[in-house]
This record gives sequence, C-alpha cells and structure tokens, in this order.
Amino acid sequence: MKLRVLGCSGGQVPGHNLSSYLVNDSLLVDAGSATSTLPFRAQQKIRNVLVTHVHLDHVMGLATIADNLYGNCESTINVWGVNEVISGLKSSLFNDTIWPDFTQITGDSQAWPVIRFQDMPEEEPIPIGNATVTAVRVNHIVPSVAFFIENQKRTLLMVGDTGPTQRVWAIARKKKNLCAVMLEASFPNRLQEIADMSRHLTPRTLAEEADKLKRPSIPILVTHLKPQFRDEIVAELKKLKGYRLRVLKQNDTLVF
Ligand SMILES: [Zn+2]
Ligand SMILES: [Zn+2]
Repeated sequence: MKLRVLGCSGGQVPGHNLSSYLVNDSLLVDAGSATSTLPFRAQQKIRNVLVTHVHLDHVMGLATIADNLYGNCESTINVWGVNEVISGLKSSLFNDTIWPDFTQITGDSQAWPVIRFQDMPEEEPIPIGNATVTAVRVNHIVPSVAFFIENQKRTLLMVGDTGPTQRVWAIARKKKNLCAVMLEASFPNRLQEIADMSRHLTPRTLAEEADKLKRPSIPILVTHLKPQFRDEIVAELKKLKGYRLRVLKQNDTLVF
C-alpha cells in the first residue's frame, strides 16, 4: 500500500497544504489540497474519495476536482462518507448556491455526472477500489470518522480530526496486520483548552490516545499540525518517549 501525503497541515499558509492523502494513486482520503497539489492528469486517476468529515479544510478540493474534471471525467468519482457527512456535503457544499451540484450536471461534453455520493454504514467493511474500508466514529465537533483501509496484507488506520476517543482503539487493538496509525496533533499543550473545546488533540492528549492502542511498536503518523504552532508542537512531540512518532510532511510517500 502506497500512501502519498498531499497535505497534512491543520491550516493553510504557503508551503502548508490542507489535509489530503492519496492511497495507491486512485483513492483520495480527504480533499483539502487535492487540486492545489495534484496535476490535472493525476486528478483524473482518482476513482474514490473517503471523507472523514465536512469541515472545509477537508473538503474544499472536492468542489474544485468536480469543476476541473467536468468535460474530461473518464469515470464518475465515488465520494464516500457516513450519513451525516454525505447529507452535509449535499446541503452545505454541492447545494447549487455555494457550488453547483455536480452529482446532477451532465451535458454534451460530459455524459455522466462527475461525482456520486455513496453513504457508508459505520463499522462495516466496504470494498472500495482495491481496498476494504471501514468507517468508525471518532470525537470531533461535527460528525467525523476514522478509516481502516485494508488490503490482503496490511491495515492502515487514518483517524480524522478528533479529540479523545475510545471505540476506534478497541477495534485497532485487535487488528493483527495494523501497520500504522495516522493521528492528529493540532495545538500545542498550552492550548489544551482550545483543543478540548474544538475536539482536537495536543501532544499530551495524542500520547494518551496512543496509550489506548496498547501497541507501542505501531508507528504513529502525526498530522494536522496548525502551521502557526508547528515548531512548538514538534518540540513537544520530540519530548514524548516510548512512542514511534513520525511527523508527516507534505510530499512524503510511505509504502507499507
Ligand atoms: Zn475538523
Ligand atoms: Zn481539520
């Protein structure tokens, strides 16, 4: 399984792209920076998009992908999310006001819709592309999920924006072939109150979440650092001992 980090920043300034990850070139997980990082031809290769939650920093690239590909879309892109995510995308983004409803538009140059929404049940493995994906609810200020992405050999756990949570760890503890966990650290420890209020993690609470996994040999890929606090968060992460932490950088490619 190949994971390419298009963006892993919890905020947008030049050089810090919003959350978006590409698995095996055709499965996109969140779409914060998909169109600002992928050339047009690479955007055409996307067949499925998993959406953790509807916050703008995770979905804005969906709007721009749909617009880019109209007229050049080889195959409808399936946009997957749990019920509240799909209903949120319909009512708040592709609502014919803030952006056109690209699930409906066709014409002479585009015979099929560019995107199609796919409701995912929770905690049920779904075949998507060459992988099997399971959505598990986490704890964010809006409905948000983690995705277990599995092939025959490996399971990658990508946890969306979250504060302290439980269920996903109970499932992850039992996954025999778990190869890595992506987990956020949005704020430094001194801003714990803001992190708790907005249901995000700091290095302190990231460590508490990692402890719940009870598998210290599993690498934790740290993501969603707010760029204005990045140096401070990285310094605090470095002080944590007994964890296999890797702070993600955009353009990283990891092979599992
Ligand atoms: Zn969020
Ligand atoms: Zn976010």
